[in-house]
Amino acid sequence: MIDWSLRHCSRNGHVTYRPDESDLARSLSATTDLGEVWRCLRCGDFVLGEPLESGPADAAPNVPRGRVLRDRLLIRFLAVERAARALMLLVGAYLVWRLKNNQARFADWIDTEIPLLKPAADTIGWNIDNSWLARTLREVASLNPGLLTLVIAGLIVYALIQLAEGYGLWHEKRWGEYLAVIATSAFIPIEIWELAHHVTILKIALFLINVAAVVWLIWSKRLFGARGGYAAFEAEHASESLLTVTRSATAESS
Ligand SMILES: [Zn+2]
Repeated sequence: MIDWSLRHCSRNGHVTYRPDESDLARSLSATTDLGEVWRCLRCGDFVLGEPLESGPADAAPNVPRGRVLRDRLLIRFLAVERAARALMLLVGAYLVWRLKNNQARFADWIDTEIPLLKPAADTIGWNIDNSWLARTLREVASLNPGLLTLVIAGLIVYALIQLAEGYGLWHEKRWGEYLAVIATSAFIPIEIWELAHHVTILKIALFLINVAAVVWLIWSKRLFGARGGYAAFEAEHASESLLTVTRSATAESS
């Protein structure tokens, strides 16, 4: 089991805070031979020295810890993955655009290259003229330019949706999580159709990431009212704050 809080602290430093409320401040600090120590709001370790910040407990930084922090790392991974998808789609749009502008030359290229390959293909008994490869290339070369324009537009729109998802997820916007779930689910049938058509490892991997992302987002972020919905989500985050925990502990003892 990885301690995400400790890991985050070792990379970004501890977060210490002196609440104005003296009973809270007492429970978060101690005096040692070396001086005053303050409890890190993230990992709970005592850190030597003055607290980084101070103020009323309600204004304390809401430091994600434990599961919330691990979820944030997963969300960020998803956001980066969305950005990578957007990039692939834009590259695809560019390639189709290039094809659209060079269709005649592409057709010429096929007509000169395939006869050149024919002797080599014949020796292995491959009828290249009638092969799946040649047919596909000729089909692509003779595609309607209007259709290609539609494909380019479609790829760009899809890329923009992916970019919006990535932005929303990275900044932990709830709309970003909803957008990711809705848009990703919408494309799952297409991905299944694609897989039924032609299976590659990359396609399977991208498909599995998408399915896992949808299930995990709904479950973890309590979207569409799952597991108590937004209210439960907020309560969970608040309860993760050590300061909130400390506050309830002192309230109970007094
Ligand atoms: Zn810490």
